[in-house]
Amino acid sequence: MAEIVAKRPTRKRRRPGGRRMFNRPKVCRFCADATLLLDYKDPKTLRIFLTERCKIIPRRISGNCAKHQRRLTVEIKRSRQIALLPFTTAHQ
Ligand SMILES: [Zn+2]
Repeated sequence: MAEIVAKRPTRKRRRPGGRRMFNRPKVCRFCADATLLLDYKDPKTLRIFLTERCKIIPRRISGNCAKHQRRLTVEIKRSRQIALLPFTTAHQ
């Protein structure tokens, strides 16, 4: 049968420093800044962690710690219930 040659994926233009385009500060904002409050009554802060289509930004992107990301999702969902934040952009 045909010889199986392990082909290595040729990678052109390998960026120095991994696959991230640019380095985001990977620190939890709520841990770093004690004045930044995590509250459902504060949609301005929660909005930072939503995409344009109002999806919650995952932890691997936002850099939040597990504890605060958990709190954040709860607060965003509470905020949506009382219409301070939208679920989607469809009904704006
Ligand atoms: Zn944190």
